[in-house]
Amino acid sequence: MENADADFQRLLDEAVKFHGHLCGGQVIGVRMAMAGLRELGIKEPRGKEGRDLVIFVEIDRCATDAIISVTGRTPGKRSLKMLDYGKMAATFVNVGTGKAVRISVRADLDEKVRRIARANETAESEEAAYLAALAAMPEEEVLKIGRVIVNIRPRDLPGKPLSSVICERCGEAVRDMREVYRWGRILCRPCADRQTYYALEDGRPATGASRTSRGRVRKGSA
Ligand SMILES: [Zn+2]
Ligand SMILES: [Zn+2]
Repeated sequence: MENADADFQRLLDEAVKFHGHLCGGQVIGVRMAMAGLRELGIKEPRGKEGRDLVIFVEIDRCATDAIISVTGRTPGKRSLKMLDYGKMAATFVNVGTGKAVRISVRADLDEKVRRIARANETAESEEAAYLAALAAMPEEEVLKIGRVIVNIRPRDLPGKPLSSVICERCGEAVRDMREVYRWGRILCRPCADRQTYYALEDGRPATGASRTSRGRVRKGSA
């Protein structure tokens, strides 16, 4: 138990350094990551046994940084996937064996932690009492852990891009089959949905910038 506490504190310190501040998200993220690794039997995620680990996180908030810090999985290695669900949960998958666990934060956690924190009269501050209570809370009261089945598409796996095509509207390359076929054209998603951003070179949304470049499929990276 003492070893587990020491591991937790070391991983929390590292996460705080990576994230930039100590917050509830760091405490929860470290706890989620430790539980996920334990459930998949991975002791050294940056070593050989972590090679097949892919994590799907469901929120773009503080805890995600802690999960990255503990596990070494990153979007750039395609081993950390962002699912924009706004939910405090992450699924840890061994893509070699298919074993997967989804770990989510219990809905009544915040209320419970606040109740314990309020009773702490020796803590330096309200926040310190909250974080101490969150760190000390038994795992089964913090996290819900369940086996799941995850279907990972080949196009989402680490490794070389499976394809690269040119968007017929903006002329930019789109990899890994993320292109959209619409109005008889091969388009990138922002061009197809007219979302996220517009090219502002001429003050107006880009149109027909690549009318001459036909969408073509190439093997390997561009
Ligand atoms: Zn934070
Ligand atoms: Zn485009």
